Amino acid sequence: MTELICIVCPKGCHLKVDEENGYKVTGNGCPRGAAYGEKELVNPTRVITSTVKVDSETTRRVPVKTNGDIPKGKIYDIMEELTKVTVQAPIRVGDVIIADVLGLGVDIVAAKKVSE
Ligand code: SF4
Repeated sequence: MTELICIVCPKGCHLKVDEENGYKVTGNGCPRGAAYGEKELVNPTRVITSTVKVDSETTRRVPVKTNGDIPKGKIYDIMEELTKVTVQAPIRVGDVIIADVLGLGVDIVAAKKVSE
């Protein structure tokens, strides 16, 4: 039995996941918690948010995020990739900063507009 806090909504339900009984989840306040509990043990994923350097007259860094879930075990590898990047302003929200990062089928995209 594994105990988790559900992070899907602010309520933060205390989940128990029974790995020996088909990943049955108890303690969830809604079905989304059951899905989260099972996925967190079988295939944990996250959306990553961070910043990268930007060549601009108005700011030094621009917020970025993945445009989909990535395996939790790849977080530090992706953060390392982000340290290698400097983008050129102007940047629009949704501009692809790194396409198919680490071959995971997910892009790093800009989360904020940066003018020249
Ligand atoms: S189980 Fe449902 S109600 Fe509870 S924290 Fe997760 S999403 Fe929110």
